[in-house]
Amino acid sequence: MNLAQFPRRGYLQGSTPIESLANFSEALGNKVNIWMKRDDLLPGCGGGNKTRKLDFSFADAIEQGADTIITCGAVQSNHCRLTASWAVKESMDCHLVLEERVKGSYHSDASGNNFLFQVLGTKSISVVPGGSDMMQEMQKVADKLSAAGKKPYIIPGGASNAIGATGYVACAQEMLQQLFEMNLSIDHVVVPSGSAGTHAGMVTGLVGNNAHIPITGINVSRPKDLQEKIVHDLAVLTAERVGVEQEVPEKSVVCFDNYVGPGYSLPTDAMIEAVKLLASTEAILLDPVYSGKTMAGCIDLVRKDYFAGCENILFLHTGGSPALYAYLDTFR
Ligand SMILES: *Cc1c(COP(=O)(O)O)cnc(C)c1O
Repeated sequence: MNLAQFPRRGYLQGSTPIESLANFSEALGNKVNIWMKRDDLLPGCGGGNKTRKLDFSFADAIEQGADTIITCGAVQSNHCRLTASWAVKESMDCHLVLEERVKGSYHSDASGNNFLFQVLGTKSISVVPGGSDMMQEMQKVADKLSAAGKKPYIIPGGASNAIGATGYVACAQEMLQQLFEMNLSIDHVVVPSGSAGTHAGMVTGLVGNNAHIPITGINVSRPKDLQEKIVHDLAVLTAERVGVEQEVPEKSVVCFDNYVGPGYSLPTDAMIEAVKLLASTEAILLDPVYSGKTMAGCIDLVRKDYFAGCENILFLHTGGSPALYAYLDTFR
């Protein structure tokens, strides 16, 4: 793979750290050593995984002569926050279309990411009902802006197309190189699986490097079968883009849907336990929607001996902690 051939803006500042979670592993009975790749520390206001993807998405937008970015997400979207953040850096306008996946969940005065959308100077926020065709809604905004003489570029939700997912192919390569330098052999990787670009990119990178490290995705909304299909389809497209010649096996995509709870973004007791346990053992913040539920899954899988035979596992921390501040009551 020669990822340097793809245009990107250079938003990363070197590799994100891989840290031992010794205290946290001990709290779980030292059944396995848990390591964490700290993509929560990526640059961009508030940090998190979307920066790796947007590095490629913005390069494509700029190549196409865009002066305005349109994207979409849920009402507390980290992706929207980071898109607004990089638009500021690129001196581009940013327009957001927010999907009210939980009815009545949009409050213009909410804290967390919503507050940051405003602080970052987002040009417009349109709120549409859950289940709306988001591409169509973004196209409506684009048509209006085009008519007004702007050159808009649409980034899909989560920047989860083959362009954005290339960022996580690069992450897999970065991780493998770091592990080599650390002389650390990882037996299993755990990632969140949402709009799928992170999971699909990691699968593509691991398959493309013949790493033979199993990877498990923890769903944040969809049922297992549907999510596995979405991740696999995107991994195939991404593999094509980056020139991975071997087939992406269907069995390389594994998702669990039993940590979603009542639905996307809705708190679960296991998520609250996970957020509190990591904060109180390692002083690392997760978020309620993605990394918290993913860690809840990871904790349960450790307890159930899913990682039996593994010495070291790695949890990809995708960020999201600004969303915690929209969930104060959940943690009180
Ligand atoms: C978007 C997001 C994810 C999920 O990544 P996808 O590529 O959308 O699957 C995980 N964690 C955080 C904090 C996110 O914002």
